Amino acid sequence: MQVAVFSTKSYDREFLIKASADTEIHYDFFEERLTERTVILARDFPAVCCFVNDELSASVIAAISSGGARMIALRCAGFNNCNLQSAAEHGVKVARVPAYSPYAVAEHTVGLILTLNRKYHKAYNRVREGNFALHGMLGFDLHGKTVGVVGTGKIGQIAASILQGFGCRVLAFDVHENPECVAAGIEYVELDRLFAESDVVTLHCPLLPSTKHLINKQSIAKMKPGVMLINTSRGGLVDAKATIEGLKTGQIGYVGLDVYEEEADLFFEDRSELVIKDDVFSRLLTFPNVLITGHQAFFTRNALEAISQITTENLRQFDQGEKLTNEVVAG
Ligand code: NAD
Repeated sequence: MQVAVFSTKSYDREFLIKASADTEIHYDFFEERLTERTVILARDFPAVCCFVNDELSASVIAAISSGGARMIALRCAGFNNCNLQSAAEHGVKVARVPAYSPYAVAEHTVGLILTLNRKYHKAYNRVREGNFALHGMLGFDLHGKTVGVVGTGKIGQIAASILQGFGCRVLAFDVHENPECVAAGIEYVELDRLFAESDVVTLHCPLLPSTKHLINKQSIAKMKPGVMLINTSRGGLVDAKATIEGLKTGQIGYVGLDVYEEEADLFFEDRSELVIKDDVFSRLLTFPNVLITGHQAFFTRNALEAISQITTENLRQFDQGEKLTNEVVAG
């Protein structure tokens, strides 16, 4: 089966080719992001393979469906960019990679916390320039601090466990308690109490209509002054303008982001020669206590291998008419 792969980078090509070597799945790689403008490329492919910033809106799904596609293989865990209702209406199956390496994202989360706290990014440059002064480097012991984990699924649970290893007290909020977290001594509390008591708030829940702008002016006001806010989940969970206001007043002490609500027009490309036109993003970059990485939390060799293998298996199941283990359905 021929599959149109969108948003292809060299690393996607390398790992997908390797994973599909002994299969009947044949990938055609497009560097373009899937949008209304590029959807024409999917014409006559029975399946398309997409990533986090590909636009799987109702109109794009209608177009890929009329072009003959009956399957969307998401090579990511999140599916907030896919209109599942529309896919169902057009008889297009959707499958994702529910877990590839939750460790990759959880470890990156802790990396953001440590870097914001101990300023490794500044130390790297300073020492290279022969500047061994410590001013501006003052951090705090993570040991004994309270960390609030919002969403204790696969990634949140691992992040919580690593932070417990640092000697942190971990509070959690989730719509479903994770028994393994309870057994590990993590205390589930209401969201308001998590905000009020946490020195670090880290987000690991999916982006849903109910979680959009979970971090907003009101929730920021409920947090501990000087709180560290970390988001490695999805950009839409955080109202960036409210975050900027929180940073300006000092209510927020640190921000670590791997995702950004309007990242689709920025991330995954070299734009170093271009002017960034997003004033909100540019303002965030001006704060010394903000650290942004470009959606790289997943980016480990282990994760890319797993993504490619599971995506290829999802497509194989579809091609052979088998039940899709990793199907995502509306509802
Ligand atoms: P998961 O499904 O295992 O866990 C998500 C958890 O969030 C579940 O326990 C669920 O009950 C909980 N949840 C749902 N609604 C909630 C709400 N309203 N409030 C609080 N919790 C709620 O998912 P995961 O594998 O742990 O991934 C978490 C998120 O991380 C994904 O949704 C994805 O968007 C993001 N992610 C980011 C990267 C990256 O590279 N930055 C990579 C992979 C995943």
